[in-house]
Amino acid sequence: MTIRTRFAPSPTGFLHVGGARTALFSWLYARRHGGQFVLRIEDTDLERSTRESVNAILEGMTWLGLEYDEGPLYQTERFEHYDAAIDKLLESGQAYRCNCSKERLDEIRDEQMRNKQKPRYDGHCREAQVSTDEPHVIRFRNPDDGDVCFTDLVRGELAFSNNELDDLIIRRTDGSPTYNLTVVVDDADMEITHVIRGDDHLNNTPRQINMLRALELPVPEYAHVPMILGDDGARLSKRHGAVSVMQYMENGYLPEALLNYLVRLGWSHGDQEIFSLDEMVQLFSVEGINRAASSFNTEKLNWLNQQYIKDNDPARVARLLSGHLGKRDIDPAMGPDLVAVVEAQRERATTLEELADISLFYYSDPESYSSKASAKALKPAALEPLRMAGEQLAKLENWEREAIHAVIKSTVEKLDTGFGKVAMPLRAAVTDGAPSPELDLTLFLIGRGAVIRRIDNAIAHIEAMGEA
Ligand code: GLU
Repeated sequence: MTIRTRFAPSPTGFLHVGGARTALFSWLYARRHGGQFVLRIEDTDLERSTRESVNAILEGMTWLGLEYDEGPLYQTERFEHYDAAIDKLLESGQAYRCNCSKERLDEIRDEQMRNKQKPRYDGHCREAQVSTDEPHVIRFRNPDDGDVCFTDLVRGELAFSNNELDDLIIRRTDGSPTYNLTVVVDDADMEITHVIRGDDHLNNTPRQINMLRALELPVPEYAHVPMILGDDGARLSKRHGAVSVMQYMENGYLPEALLNYLVRLGWSHGDQEIFSLDEMVQLFSVEGINRAASSFNTEKLNWLNQQYIKDNDPARVARLLSGHLGKRDIDPAMGPDLVAVVEAQRERATTLEELADISLFYYSDPESYSSKASAKALKPAALEPLRMAGEQLAKLENWEREAIHAVIKSTVEKLDTGFGKVAMPLRAAVTDGAPSPELDLTLFLIGRGAVIRRIDNAIAHIEAMGEA
């Protein structure tokens, strides 16, 4: 049997980290078992579904690298399949037309509430002969007795009593099919073997199993994944911070860091924290999914992101970083090699946004000398070291780290002063105090033209201060 899993988002918003984790688990399960992963867009709620949301979901999946073998399949293109299933249920007497008015439904619900009963449809139209000419819905005739039992791959044996389940509407008055019916038809048509989804759908599962049986369709395995909580124990939502996958991209997270974070959120393999995608595929098992809900911890995500920035191929980090520099109006082609900049700076940043911020000075001159470091270092006593170093740097034959280092050293010796008295003004002149690596490397990367210009600017700045 080929394992087939699916991710079935409703396009009513962006791709949420909770959805992304469900998608990741489904994707991993398929990859782990040499199976296939299907993307199905559940867009039958025409009022709430939007093309922008579909695009946002596709964009999020692409950014995460969760490629699908089939899809995106759109439910709105599959109405004939739902209609056929509804007809079949009507023919076999397992579905019926219902024309109960809203007033009647309200009345029975109020009475049930007064009697402290769970509100449910009372089956009034089961035996009625409702004409197709009058407005009506179609209800699934749920079995009256017995239990629906299944083994959830995360939660174990579960049983739901049929007398807790009422006759669900499967087609609305406007003719559109409802969620549980479409999922049942699609999971069967798409030959889904394993439904891995959020446990907010757990109550739908016995209803779906009853419908699958009524339609004589195979029942897949189910794995219900516990939800993600915010740090205050409430369900993760916007008020806890970023929840959209693409927001994480904007904020400078690497997709592999987010995937690593999401896989560990609710799944474990011993105490290993860092997993490459290949390792995840090799090690993922549904049995390793926690039964309890897990809390989103931004600090841990930041830690992982930092590891990936530090340890990934610098060329890849550079590619990702260039977009963040672009947002700051920097064209990395107009300055030092970005890969070398990444190598020099990456130990110092948690996100690509931070890395972009602390790398700006490689590409643009300090706008002013307003930092504390500049205030301390750019004083009249710095004029001579700056001039002397500047002259020698301008004349250097080869713009190389060793030669730059030799200039700094010889300036220190000629002035018979401390290293800091030369190095600190130079560093302030070229960076205005931004975090930077060894001075010779910093100057080398910034490039001769920009270094000389910045030294001149710093000298002018000191002289202007003296005149003020
Ligand atoms: N469309 C549903 C949702 O976005 C998921 C349905 C399912 O996984 O069965 O919540």
